[in-house]
Amino acid sequence: MRTPTDRLLMLANRILISRPDYGKLYEKYRLEYYQEHREELIENSRRYYAEHKEECIKTVREWQRNNAEKVKANRRQWKKDHWEYCKEARKKWRKENPLTNKEFTWKYNDKMVQTLREKSAEYIRLHPELKEECAKKWRENHREEGRIHGESNRLYKAGVIVKVPCKCGVDSVMMRQIDYKDAMNVEWCCKECGWKKIKERNRQKKIDLLKKI
Ligand SMILES: [Zn+2]
Repeated sequence: MRTPTDRLLMLANRILISRPDYGKLYEKYRLEYYQEHREELIENSRRYYAEHKEECIKTVREWQRNNAEKVKANRRQWKKDHWEYCKEARKKWRKENPLTNKEFTWKYNDKMVQTLREKSAEYIRLHPELKEECAKKWRENHREEGRIHGESNRLYKAGVIVKVPCKCGVDSVMMRQIDYKDAMNVEWCCKECGWKKIKERNRQKKIDLLKKI
């Protein structure tokens, strides 16, 4: 059943198709009408949305599903237009979710471990003086740990501490201090496992610190 409005719209369409220059005119009038009745039209759509909320959402979702490329492009454009706002929002999110943010960084680092290692090796090669400086600083800040390390080494040379292969089966191992209060409390790890343990320990430290805040 066609309503009078439908019939009117059909007529308008037929005219628009037959006379393209009418299209421009129609567009102009439409814009004028919109500008004049802006508040009223917005109020109308708001009311319609409130009454048909689920239906509206469904239609929009359907459209988004069918126009995935357009949605992506729009989002990209929006980000470009509001990059200052996005930057602030990201900063705020990082501040509010420090733990999640750290986890993202760690995940990224784990993925890029080879590249990052190569980068740091390159950096050390370019700045050889930094290596000695860092080692000196570390020694100054970790006097007690250094002393215990020395003591454990002496115990190892005296035969009190016995070297064993790593848990993963590698024979080439390094001594690792478990407890910095007891020189006897050591374990033997290969390079790979040792680094993994150090990383895990440092992460746990950071997590504990962040949880306290
Ligand atoms: Zn190992």
